[in-house]
Amino acid sequence: MSSEVETPPRAKPREKVSASLDRAPRLRSGRTEVPELMGTVEPNGSLADFIWFRTGGPAEWLVKPKDVEDLSRFLGGLDPSVPVLPVGVGSNLIVRDGGVAGVVIRLPKSFAQVTVEPGNRIRAGAGAMGITVASKARDAGIAGLEFLRGIPGTAGGAVRMNAGAYGREVADILVEATLVLRGGSVETWPAERFGYTYRHSETPEGAVVVEALFQGTPGDPSAIGAEMDRIAEEREASQPLRSRTGGSTFKNPPGTKAWKEIDSAGCRGLQIGDAQVSEKHCNFLLNLGKASSAEIEALGEEVRRRVREHSGVELEWEIQRVGVSE
Ligand SMILES: Cc1cc2nc3c(=O)[nH]c(=O)nc-3n(C[C@H](O)[C@H](O)[C@H](O)COP(=O)(O)OP(=O)(O)OC[C@H]3O[C@@H](n4cnc5c(N)ncnc54)[C@H](O)[C@@H]3O)c2cc1C
Repeated sequence: MSSEVETPPRAKPREKVSASLDRAPRLRSGRTEVPELMGTVEPNGSLADFIWFRTGGPAEWLVKPKDVEDLSRFLGGLDPSVPVLPVGVGSNLIVRDGGVAGVVIRLPKSFAQVTVEPGNRIRAGAGAMGITVASKARDAGIAGLEFLRGIPGTAGGAVRMNAGAYGREVADILVEATLVLRGGSVETWPAERFGYTYRHSETPEGAVVVEALFQGTPGDPSAIGAEMDRIAEEREASQPLRSRTGGSTFKNPPGTKAWKEIDSAGCRGLQIGDAQVSEKHCNFLLNLGKASSAEIEALGEEVRRRVREHSGVELEWEIQRVGVSE
């Protein structure tokens, strides 16, 4: 990633608040109040600092809980009218330029442990990256999780998005996942309860996935490693991995590929401001440097319009768009 991109201006100067339980029990920033917690809470916390596109406004409150108990207590004490948005590393997100109202939950490293369990299973904290989960499975001789090597997001994001590649998806490997629901209760759901379809789950609004249990089959570590290397090479050749992007912009429509429809509608390389349809993989949008989220979203809508006009195919956003416009 180049260092030329400017972080969007923030509504207020950044101030980091480390809450401790012996201080006043609530924190206030203009509009809303949130309970204190053991982790950190940052008013006007920058999301553009870490999400893949590097665009968009701040979170009204950016919260990093210390552990599951801390998160559960925090959500339990939060006014039910305050919206809650969990995020991973934003590899599938457009955060609009006006920022996100309410609370954004980002899981810190303490939620990223990955362990091996009997029965060819891997237990992953929701903050663990797909590549870490796949590598742990490889080292333990567990096959079937290789596809996670190519998905540059967290286990939590993958559970929520039913992330997939090369004919496999999370629904095929998930045994169960633990969530902290919006009201603060902690529940472990079997995979079937997520109602998985293509890049979709029924994860409830505001619920944070904190852990996932995946299952594979016995395999040879060197064969698993070779498959992961193949995936990495193929990705490098076909996707703009080193760019500011949000992955596949649109879901593949039934019976066709989104990139084919975009290409045949003449959208490869199309540009609005500093937002561009990737030349390398035209279902990827890029921030060439100084794009705003509004430009990226407008480009996506223009692509949808041109594809509809050209072939009648209705493209559906895969990228999650959150927050408000400026
Ligand atoms: C170069 C590139 C290649 C990609 N290739 C693929 C691919 O092959 N297949 C594929 O499926 N995707 C792909 N993606 C998209 C993306 O990596 C996946 O959707 C991934 O699962 C998102 O994970 P994340 O942690 O970044 O989630 P985010 O982008 O941060 O969030 C995505 C959604 O998940 C929710 N979410 C995130 N964490 C949690 C949590 N802990 N609990 C509850 N909800 C949560 C968010 O609210 C949001 O709705 C690619 C992206 C890029 C940039």
